[in-house]
Amino acid sequence: MSRFVPVRAFFEPAAFDYPLGRELHTRLEAMKIPILSTGSHNRVTGIPGKIPGEAYREAKQTLVVGVRKTVDFSPCKPSAHYQLPLATSCPGMCEYCYLATTLGKRPYLRVYVNIEDVLAKASAHMAEHAPAITVFEGAATSDPVPTEYLTGLLAKTIEFFGGQSLGRFRFVTKHTDVDSLLTARHNGHTRFRFSLNAARIIRDYEHATPSLEERIAAASSVARAGYPLGFIVAPIFSFSGWRSEYEVLFKSLANALPDTARRDLTFELITHRFTKRAKANINAIFPKTTLPMAEEDRTFKFGQFGYGKYVYPAETMNEIKDFMLSQIHSHFPGAKAEYLV
Ligand code: SF4
Repeated sequence: MSRFVPVRAFFEPAAFDYPLGRELHTRLEAMKIPILSTGSHNRVTGIPGKIPGEAYREAKQTLVVGVRKTVDFSPCKPSAHYQLPLATSCPGMCEYCYLATTLGKRPYLRVYVNIEDVLAKASAHMAEHAPAITVFEGAATSDPVPTEYLTGLLAKTIEFFGGQSLGRFRFVTKHTDVDSLLTARHNGHTRFRFSLNAARIIRDYEHATPSLEERIAAASSVARAGYPLGFIVAPIFSFSGWRSEYEVLFKSLANALPDTARRDLTFELITHRFTKRAKANINAIFPKTTLPMAEEDRTFKFGQFGYGKYVYPAETMNEIKDFMLSQIHSHFPGAKAEYLV
């Protein structure tokens, strides 16, 4: 897949106070990307697109360079203690991306140039929790890989945690432009995770993202670079022939991964669910969507933030759970299934 190249970039004036802000400006200018100014990275006006689908696609090609003023970290259950804010959004167009709900109608990409402030806050959290280990998630609000070739934010963060005895870093991606991260001094303190799905689901719903084969190849390179590896299989769907499609995924993974990857390997499993709000958004952005979102086929469950979601009924959940866990145990006997929701 070709690299993400923004169609336009916006800079907050304060971004120029930081070396990375200035470097990014030089780099984007050399790439002949039109550069505009924005008073705040939170309120960007001037991204074209009148109807929801157009506004969404234009935003996905827009890069905003800003300063993260509030460096308070949100909690990040169940995969980590805190979210580490590096970026938001991504150029992928997965129909079920939850960021389409949380980032509003124009989910433009945003990168934060004051990485030193963010890492200083991480140090403060580690000190608070000492001697326990504190875990930080770098992909709670973005897929941070597509902009990495421009910013180097992930490499910097990985090397920072490489030097920490009380901190661990993890992030997840669907993207494969990972070569610049293979030589980062991670010291085994970053878990590099890939989000996977059955090839058919990727093809039908994860637009503008690399294929399953490309992701598996990138994961193998990451494993050979000595990173602890992880996979998020999500969202898992129950459809006609789902078992054989997911079996192909696990078999392809087992055939491709080097033996070293099996020493410390995790899986996180998330079944498909949706809220009424997400469904309305998806229908607005992708009016021809074939995503299965019939409320009558699901069980309504109250969520922890007060809104309800539609999940698979208990019987389907149990079938998925039994099948997925048996696949993991037979193909990767030493791996840890961290959770299935
Ligand atoms: S790759 Fe991840 S962050 Fe990007 S659109 Fe897809 S689900 Fe959302």
